[in-house]
Amino acid sequence: MRKIPSTEILKNKFANYQKTLFDSRNFQKPKDALKDILKVKNTIKKYGLNKNKVNAYINKIINEYDDILIADPNRIEELINEFEQLIPANNITQKFSEDIVDALRYNALREKEFIMIIQELGIKTCVYCHAQLTVVIDKDRYERNYKDLGVKKGDIRTRRGFLELDHRHAKSKYPFLATSFYNLYPVCGNCNRAKSDKKSPFDLYTNSEELDILKFSIKDSSTVLSLVNNDYNQIEIEITTQNLSKADSDFYMQTFDIQGIYDTQKDLIHELLYKKVVYTDKYKNELIEEFKDLFPDKSIIDRLIIGNYDKPEDVHKRPMAKFVQDIARDIELIPPLPAKNGH
Ligand SMILES: [Zn+2]
Repeated sequence: MRKIPSTEILKNKFANYQKTLFDSRNFQKPKDALKDILKVKNTIKKYGLNKNKVNAYINKIINEYDDILIADPNRIEELINEFEQLIPANNITQKFSEDIVDALRYNALREKEFIMIIQELGIKTCVYCHAQLTVVIDKDRYERNYKDLGVKKGDIRTRRGFLELDHRHAKSKYPFLATSFYNLYPVCGNCNRAKSDKKSPFDLYTNSEELDILKFSIKDSSTVLSLVNNDYNQIEIEITTQNLSKADSDFYMQTFDIQGIYDTQKDLIHELLYKKVVYTDKYKNELIEEFKDLFPDKSIIDRLIIGNYDKPEDVHKRPMAKFVQDIARDIELIPPLPAKNGH
C-alpha cells in the first residue's frame, strides 16, 4: 500500500544479512546443493526439460548467486529477462522449481533469517491490505517452560513470525528469486492466498519518489449525517488509487478486497469525527502548553489524538495507519502534509 524507498541504507541492511546468512547453519549451502541438480542425468524424465537448458539455468544461479540475493527491483527485472532466454517462466515445471527452491534453502531461511529481516525493517502490518498484523515475536521469552515439556532448547525456534512471505515474482515461475530479499513481502494469510501466484502491480521497494498508491477520504455529506444520527454506518469511505493504471488499480482493489475491508472500519472514522469536534485548536494548544515537558515534540499530540502513527513514513508500523492518517487530514483533525518540492 505504501512503498519503501530502495535507499543505500536498505541496500546495506540486505548486504549485511547476505554476508552472514549461513554462518550459524551447518547444512549444505545453496551453491553446493544446486550442483546436485547439475548431476541429474535424465532431466527430461525428471523435469521435463532439456539437459543443456537445465545446466545453463542452474549454472547462472550458481555463478550469480550473490548478485541474485540482493538484486534491487531494477536488477530483478534484468535478471528475469536474462533467465527468460534460458528457460521461459511459463515452461518451468513444478519439480524443477521445487528442487531449486529447496537447494536455495528457502524454507530454512524463512523460519529464521527472513523474519529477522522483516523485524529489523520495522514492518508490522501486511504490505498489501495494511489491515492485519505481521509481527515477529522472540519466542524464548514466552517458552520458559520448555524444559518441563522435555524439549531441548535447540529444538525450539527462537523467533516466530506471525506473517506469511509473498514472493512478488512467484517462486513457481521464477525459482531463482525464491530467496532474494527484495522479492519477499511480509503479508497476511488472506492477501497471500488471494494473490496466489499472480503478479501484484504493487512493488514494495521502489526507486521512484511516488510511494503511495491509495488515498482514503470520506464523502463530505456523510460526515454530518453520521454525527447528527449518531450512526457510523452512514459514513461513506472513498478510496482512490494513484500511480497505477486502471487495470492494475482494479486488480489491487479486487484481489485484496480493499473497499470491503475498510468499510468494516467506519466506527474508527466515527471516533475521528467526534475528536474533530472535541479537540478544538484552542484545546489542543492548551494541552501542548500544559504538557510541554511531556511533549518536547508537540506533533506527538496529533498521534495521541488519532490513536495511530501520524507520519506517512510510519504507516508500516501499525495496521490502519494510512487509513486513519488520510482521513484525519481529510477532515482537518491534524495538519496537512508539507507540499512536496516542485509540486
Ligand atoms: Zn493483508
